Amino acid sequence: MRAWVIRGTGDLDRLQIAEVPDPAGPLGAQDVRVAVRAAALNHLDLFVLRGLPHEYRFPHVVGGDGAGVVEVVGSEVRSVRPGDRVMINPGIADYACEYCLAGEHSLCVTYRLLGEHLPGTLAEFVVVPEQNVAVIPTLPMPLSWPEAAAFSLVTLTAWRMVVTRAQVKAGETVLVWGIGGGLSLTAMRIAKLKGARVIVTSSSDAKLREAQRLGADVTLNHRTQKISQEVRALTGRRGADVVIENAGEATWDESLRALGRGGRLVTCGATTGPKVGLDLRRLFWYQWSIMGATMGNLAEYHEIVRVLGTGELRPVVDRVFSFAEARAAFERLERGEQLGKIAVEISP
Ligand SMILES: [Zn+2]
Repeated sequence: MRAWVIRGTGDLDRLQIAEVPDPAGPLGAQDVRVAVRAAALNHLDLFVLRGLPHEYRFPHVVGGDGAGVVEVVGSEVRSVRPGDRVMINPGIADYACEYCLAGEHSLCVTYRLLGEHLPGTLAEFVVVPEQNVAVIPTLPMPLSWPEAAAFSLVTLTAWRMVVTRAQVKAGETVLVWGIGGGLSLTAMRIAKLKGARVIVTSSSDAKLREAQRLGADVTLNHRTQKISQEVRALTGRRGADVVIENAGEATWDESLRALGRGGRLVTCGATTGPKVGLDLRRLFWYQWSIMGATMGNLAEYHEIVRVLGTGELRPVVDRVFSFAEARAAFERLERGEQLGKIAVEISP
């Protein structure tokens, strides 16, 4: 099959189209083989390309998010059938360890991600456990393949951050950094669904205007404005109830300055660097909760698919690239030009 692969880590010029072995072999009893129609990119894909500490098996097929048509199912698969149109949840658990049995699949001791530890979705076919696919909900305006591909990773991650971890409630103030990224944009929309007032930031006024159209209550330009001061001013000096972080070093101090008494900070990333500081006196005095989040469990995945079926949380797709142009898609992601998700069509 044709796939976008890397044969070593480095720059974007490492990406190449290659003919790789088809995952045809004997299918596990609970596996499904999906003919991929579209894939979507995440920042993780850039980190994989640059080099992560785990062992790679080259050529490595890139891409985590995807959607397509179920082609073959294992002998024990009951939840989907050949011909079903499905979205792929790229977080693969073993569904057997103590965390899985407790329902916390993203804490699985062997948790792996498509495109990171396993062959990815920028390929004609991918094989995953049946738990990792969900039938695409039927909507009055049907989801396109790129929209379906763009859904799983950021929506699952943002839902866990906003709903499960931060437990955002109606009337609370939520600060979301960097609204151009798919994760931040989805977190904003979920916080709005929960009735929160959402303050978003970007360095681009054009993106801030678009975020306002998509529901942001307040927009701040973090290149020209001091975010913590603005948030304090907007909340009668109280500060934000919740801060949604994924930048790390560049935003961390300001995130804490913006966080109010009893505030919750949830982070799922460190795109600008992983080492940050914390004054313990402020942590205990203000009784902050600082939480990490990664992907989500199956109950959360079923819940976001249900919400999608009600017409909410339809993915915002920034641009769709053809299979042949996938490197340009990575370049757009690296330059941070997007608002929403960047998708790649795999086959028509
Ligand atoms: Zn497990």
